Amino acid sequence: MKNEHDKKNKCHIEVCYLCNQEFDIGKDDCSHYHYGKYPICANCSEAYGFFNI
Ligand SMILES: [Zn+2]
Repeated sequence: MKNEHDKKNKCHIEVCYLCNQEFDIGKDDCSHYHYGKYPICANCSEAYGFFNI
C-alpha cells in the first residue's frame, strides 16, 4: 500500500493504470484510485464510468 500517504498531497502526479498518461490525481476531478490502488485519470474515469468506485 505505497499510495497510502500520497492521498494527502494536493498535487501528486500518477500514471494512469489504463492509458499510461501522467495526471495529477490531487486535482478536483474524476481521477481517483480504483479499488484504492490503481490510479485512474479523469478521462478514463469518464470513459469507463469508474466514478467513486
Ligand atoms: Zn487514463
